[in-house]
Amino acid sequence: MVGRVLLWAILGLLAWWLLRPNRKVAAPPRGPAASAATVAAPEAMVDCAACGLHFPASEAVRDGARLYCCAAHRDAGPRRGA
Ligand SMILES: [Zn+2]
Repeated sequence: MVGRVLLWAILGLLAWWLLRPNRKVAAPPRGPAASAATVAAPEAMVDCAACGLHFPASEAVRDGARLYCCAAHRDAGPRRGA
């Protein structure tokens, strides 16, 4: 009697263990959170040499070593006194 209960308990554990990996694949707990963190991670920010605006480096308009927020500010040149 006890042996039969143990057998069913082992079979139940086995079934649970076999089904568990499928659930992990269906709903990865860290996948979305990790990608969200990657998206939320801020990229390098730089200051416009003309107006001082803080903006992402990927949007920078370059003029030698100086960075500007837009082509108009690049044409205007660096801020006076800076
Ligand atoms: Zn600017």
